[in-house]
Amino acid sequence: MVEPARGSDDLYIKFWGVRGSIAAPGQRFGTFGGNTPCVEVRCGPRLVIVDAGTGLVALGVELGASAPSSIDLVLSHLHLDHVGGFPFFRPALMADRLIRVHCGNLRGESAEAALDRLFSPPLFPVGLAQLPGSFEHVGFKAGEALELGNGLTVPTVPLNHPGGATGYRFNHRGRSVCYISDIEHSEPWPPPDLSAFVKDADLVIYDGMFSETEYLRCQGWGHSTWEKGVALCEAAGARGLAIFHLHPQHDDSYLLGVEAAIKARMPGAFLAREGQELTFPPL
Ligand SMILES: [Zn+2]
Ligand SMILES: [Zn+2]
Repeated sequence: MVEPARGSDDLYIKFWGVRGSIAAPGQRFGTFGGNTPCVEVRCGPRLVIVDAGTGLVALGVELGASAPSSIDLVLSHLHLDHVGGFPFFRPALMADRLIRVHCGNLRGESAEAALDRLFSPPLFPVGLAQLPGSFEHVGFKAGEALELGNGLTVPTVPLNHPGGATGYRFNHRGRSVCYISDIEHSEPWPPPDLSAFVKDADLVIYDGMFSETEYLRCQGWGHSTWEKGVALCEAAGARGLAIFHLHPQHDDSYLLGVEAAIKARMPGAFLAREGQELTFPPL
């Protein structure tokens, strides 16, 4: 991992929302940020966005008129914290922009029907179809690979989460970043198929919402712990670990303590911060 200096062939990511379940506004959460999941992934001119949580709103503002004519949005699943920012994404309000929405699940269904249900009266004033932007909905079975062009290959994996979720691996020019959220670990841990999926990755973005003690009270909720993220990376030879889907009640002082403990176990590990950028030059 190197400091941000985005070049045209680099694999680049930026965290726009790292908080899980619900947004956490306020000064106590300012270091890590309060927006729900959204990660920008770029390689060359290609823009891929992972999840449409509230963090997507600020990404849309920054893109403004420079938003590419075609944007790929890949969704881990359709829980509210992962889709709530969608209708507030500025390119969705621009008539000459196409947003291709990829949604993985066990049935291969697109997200269109679910998003139509969510974004319609009386839950929401208008549907996505009424917005000026164009949308294309692509469903696939979690476990299939996506080909997004520009040398970006994206294997996927089904994750253990209520209703299911999809994990992604972004491979570009010899570098790779994995997005493994939302997931509840299983025993024994880690399972061989998930270890193989994240093998030798430069970075694994992992759902570390709970401490091991909290997890005992929250089994079945579909989330994991930072310790399980470290164990997965150690088993798979992954070099970097970004703990993600941070608990909405864990404030900065608590999380800084967690981060110190993680770094003592794995020097390449950290807690993801809203606004944080990472660049992986081609090998
Ligand atoms: Zn979530
Ligand atoms: Zn979820």
